Amino acid sequence: MNTGSSHPALRTISHPQPTELLPAILSLTAQQLTDWLREQGQPGWRSGQIRRWLLQRRISSFAEMTDLPAALRQTLEQSFRFCSLEPVGHQIATDRTEKLLLRLHDGELVECVLMREPDRRTICISTQVGCAMGCVFCASGLLGVKRNLSGEEIVEQVLMLHRLMPETEQITNLVVMGIGEPLANYSPMMTALNLLTSDESLGLGARRITVSTVGLPEKIREFARNGQQFNLAISLHAPNDQLRTEIVPVNRNIGIQEILAAADDFHAVTGRRVSWEYVLLAGINDADHHAQQLADLLRGRVAHVNVIPMNGVSELGMTAPEEPQTQQFVGILEREHIPVTVRKRKGADIDAACGQLRLNRTRQGD
Ligand code: SAH
Repeated sequence: MNTGSSHPALRTISHPQPTELLPAILSLTAQQLTDWLREQGQPGWRSGQIRRWLLQRRISSFAEMTDLPAALRQTLEQSFRFCSLEPVGHQIATDRTEKLLLRLHDGELVECVLMREPDRRTICISTQVGCAMGCVFCASGLLGVKRNLSGEEIVEQVLMLHRLMPETEQITNLVVMGIGEPLANYSPMMTALNLLTSDESLGLGARRITVSTVGLPEKIREFARNGQQFNLAISLHAPNDQLRTEIVPVNRNIGIQEILAAADDFHAVTGRRVSWEYVLLAGINDADHHAQQLADLLRGRVAHVNVIPMNGVSELGMTAPEEPQTQQFVGILEREHIPVTVRKRKGADIDAACGQLRLNRTRQGD
């Protein structure tokens, strides 16, 4: 078990697993909750009251729903779990980035993160247990994919992070960049995002939500037509198919041209600029000619490149390049008039790279 001794800010929280699991209350739709209330002899409108508590307020038990009759609060307690996720680790970095390690009802683990900047609070959530894409630099996929998360498991991550923040702080941005490939778990992810953007819950702005994908062309085209103004980020990481297939193996059956065509379609349908993520791996994809090739691919497109210095994953034997090479890479893109930013590192003193915390815990048999 990981005692977290290398992380002074890690608190390990452990509760016994209940033998018989009640359904999570958010696994019911508003209508299903209304029907359940009627069966209990309660007015159906209490459904809205309960869901406002669940989706908007920072409480953590049915007992705190103070405008419900005490007997109903007790029946809720006996019939449902307030939340299906159980925090089993909580790290706080010196820059106040917070990361939760969450245990699901079947014992699996996922992670979510809260990142603070002066004018924004960005949260990052997971969509799958593990990942099937196999990117060679990523901790999330090292153990393969176990299962998809349900819509309520995705929403609950957001609510748990919301509850960590004081009343004066609000979530402003959401990135679907945690563990898993969001477009490989499309319907539950969209159910979750549609709830999170609705006034019934936090009413997050679609334009402040970004879904990051390895690049699944058909799903990108479907996502383009979902009717909301979400942002799309595509993890390209290499400017030619030979190299991309080496470091993003799922590329073998897709190819960069198909991804570019789907991205163009996304832009044509939504009018939104597409972001291209490029993890810099020293000696692998960070040479000047790679930057030049990347510029050639994106020239004439409404695009933005997000250069990400690799987060260390100890067993992978790959590292981020030194700062001068990163600047050189960025400089070539700038010279070619490709908009580019280097992603800031957040939570550097905790296991901040995607899936690292889960990987360490799973390996240690926690
Ligand atoms: N499956 C999705 C979303 C999850 S990963 C995708 O591929 O986009 C979110 C981003 O973090 C991706 O761009 C991913 O390639 C990147 N990433 C993964 N491992 C990383 C590491 N060790 N260092 C830096 N970025 C990493």
